[in-house]
Amino acid sequence: MGDSAVGKSNLLSRFSKGEFHLDSKPTIGVEFAYRNIKVGDKLAKAQIWDTAGQERFRAITSSYYRGALGAMLVYDITRRGTFKNLKKWLHELREYGNRDMVIVLIGNKSDLVDSREVEAEEGQSLAQLEDLCFLETSAKENLNVEDAFLQMITKIFEIAS
Ligand code: GDP
Ligand code: MG
Repeated sequence: MGDSAVGKSNLLSRFSKGEFHLDSKPTIGVEFAYRNIKVGDKLAKAQIWDTAGQERFRAITSSYYRGALGAMLVYDITRRGTFKNLKKWLHELREYGNRDMVIVLIGNKSDLVDSREVEAEEGQSLAQLEDLCFLETSAKENLNVEDAFLQMITKIFEIAS
């Protein structure tokens, strides 16, 4: 979840296919990806959904949330507006999402150091306040992407077992 163009689709393609695309083509239809990932001695088959452009209209339907065990909430560290909108996204997640849904807050585009508008500490303190995990990532440079998904899946396992 998160505003348009923060890098959601690229985080997913990086994690599921090892791919990054410089041009942003809006996601059309329902898109999701699978990846098997080892968590300790267990094998998880993660099915990850990508929002399909609805974020522009803020009309993510409740079907997205139904049965979801976790959510990644993404902002762009070079656009403060995407950070400000997190409150709205959190509100929606809590309204439609499962009670014990794991939420990981992601500050993406950490490679763009010169255009940073949101400090890592700000992401960290929001995460603390809202009781979320937090990481800065770069889908482009493949920084922390694996870790972000792994943290989420590990947490889901902890809750489920
Ligand atoms: P979405 O709308 O949230 O799915 O965003 P996209 O994944 O389509 O990405 C939007 C734009 O940001 C594209 O031009 C991407 O190439 C770019 N982008 C995504 N992640 C990164 C990143 O980590 N670093 C940089 N520099 N650009 C990124
Ligand atoms: Mg997208």
